[in-house]
Amino acid sequence: MEYVEKRVKREVRSQLDLSTGGHITVALSGGKDSMTTLHLLHEILSMRRDVTLDAITVDEGTPGYRDICVERSRKLCDELGVDHHVISFAEEYGITMEDIGPRSGVRTPCSYCGVLRRRCLNRKAQELGSTHIATGLNLDDTVQSVMMNISRGDVERLARLGPHTRIQPGLVPRIQPLRSIPEKETYTYALLRGLDFHESSCPWSGEAVRNDYRHVVNLLEDGSPGTKHCILSSYDQLRPMLRDAYAPADLRQCECGEPCLEERCMACRLLDEIIIEPRE
Ligand code: SF4
Repeated sequence: MEYVEKRVKREVRSQLDLSTGGHITVALSGGKDSMTTLHLLHEILSMRRDVTLDAITVDEGTPGYRDICVERSRKLCDELGVDHHVISFAEEYGITMEDIGPRSGVRTPCSYCGVLRRRCLNRKAQELGSTHIATGLNLDDTVQSVMMNISRGDVERLARLGPHTRIQPGLVPRIQPLRSIPEKETYTYALLRGLDFHESSCPWSGEAVRNDYRHVVNLLEDGSPGTKHCILSSYDQLRPMLRDAYAPADLRQCECGEPCLEERCMACRLLDEIIIEPRE
C-alpha cells in the first residue's frame, strides 16, 4: 500500500501545480480505479485549505449496474466528507444507454457512451469551477490508449492523451494520478484499503474495441514482464516531441456550447445519428 501511495504522490506532484490552490474534481464511476483515486487524493490533499476536492458521477442509465455504482460512490463521498454530484444522460440528453446500446449499429455502445460521458463531465466540472478533472486511468488503460492510437496512425490524438499540461478554453484539463499503477495493483490496493467499490463490469463493455488491446498488452506483459511500464516510459519520452509537433488546435464553439475542432462537436453528431435513425 505504501508503494502505491508513494508513486501516486509522485504523479500528483508532477502533474499538478497547486502553488496557488486549486479545485480538483474526481470523475467517480464507483469502480476500483476511481474510488482509489478519490481516496488517495483525499489522503494527499485534505489538509490543504486552498484546495477543493469533490466528485462527479455520470449516470448513463444502465439499470442494475450504474445505480449500484452511484450508491457506492455516494457512500465513499459521505465517508470522506466530499461533495458528490450526479449528472445523468437522461437529464442532459433526454436519452439513456438503454436507448443508445441497441441502436449503436456499426459503432460500439462505448463509442457513444465515452463521448457523451466526457461532455457531461466537462460541463459539470466547468459549472463547479474545477481547475482539473482527475480520472482513474491506470497503467493498463494508458498503455492500451497509446497502442490504440499508434495502431490507428492517429499521432495527433496520441499527442493529446493526458495528463494535460496545456489549458484549452472551455476544456477542463485532466490529470491521471494512477497512470503508473498496474490494474492488478490498483485492485489489490482497493481491496486492502476496504474500499466498497462495484466489481461488476458494465454490461456494454464486452463490445469495446479496447478489449483486443487489453488482450494483446497482457500477452506482451506475460511474455516479458515490465512491458507495460516500458511502453509508458517510451511514450513519456516522446511526449515533449509530440507536443512540439502538434500545437494546440484552434477550437471553435459548437451550438451546444462545447469546444470542438469541427463545426459541431462529436457528442452532437453522435446524438444526431442515434435520434435520426429509427429504432428497429
Ligand atoms: S463500458 Fe462503455 S458503455 Fe459502459 S460505462 Fe464505459 S464507456 Fe459507457
